[in-house]
Amino acid sequence: MKKSTIVILVCIAIVLGMVSGIMYAIIDRNNLQEAQINEIRKLNELIEANIVKVNEIQEDVVATSGSDVKLSPNAYIIFEKHYIDCGHTIIEKRQINDDEVNKDEEYFKNAYSDWEIESFSANEVKLYKEFQGNCDEHYLITVNDENIVVYSVDEDGNKTLKEETDIPVQYLPEEDVELLKKGITAYGQNELAKKLEDFE
Ligand SMILES: [Zn+2]
Repeated sequence: MKKSTIVILVCIAIVLGMVSGIMYAIIDRNNLQEAQINEIRKLNELIEANIVKVNEIQEDVVATSGSDVKLSPNAYIIFEKHYIDCGHTIIEKRQINDDEVNKDEEYFKNAYSDWEIESFSANEVKLYKEFQGNCDEHYLITVNDENIVVYSVDEDGNKTLKEETDIPVQYLPEEDVELLKKGITAYGQNELAKKLEDFE
């Protein structure tokens, strides 16, 4: 063979080798992509199956907490009253009335339609509502002619006499009397009782 023929053959061999290498890489990549697509497809199917399952579970929960649960005779209703102006939440609790025994969530949705039902179980219904203004737990401790008195104060500063105590002013130190004349504010029954104790 001529030298030039050998060179050409070698060149062809190299080119063929390169082309086949590239082809192989492309085919391989396609296979890889296909494998990945299959993998993703499987994953999606799995996720979808689980979402369906989760939905079923949620429906179960709603179903049991909704129509099936009925109030036991010893159940309580908890009223959470949130006052927007002062930011306080007053919690009141009472045992259910006789006519509320065995009632379900649907009944309470109608009976307390302006309240939000926070939770509902056989032993407890939790209701929530927002109110304008202050809660009714804002007090002013001050004095009248003889005794320490307590006023309730609303959000506009209007005072209503709540209680005239039997704590006399005449034996109190002058500085206490001055403080009381200016008025001492208290929030909640506990704080009120505590601050009154200081003067007893
Ligand atoms: Zn308040």
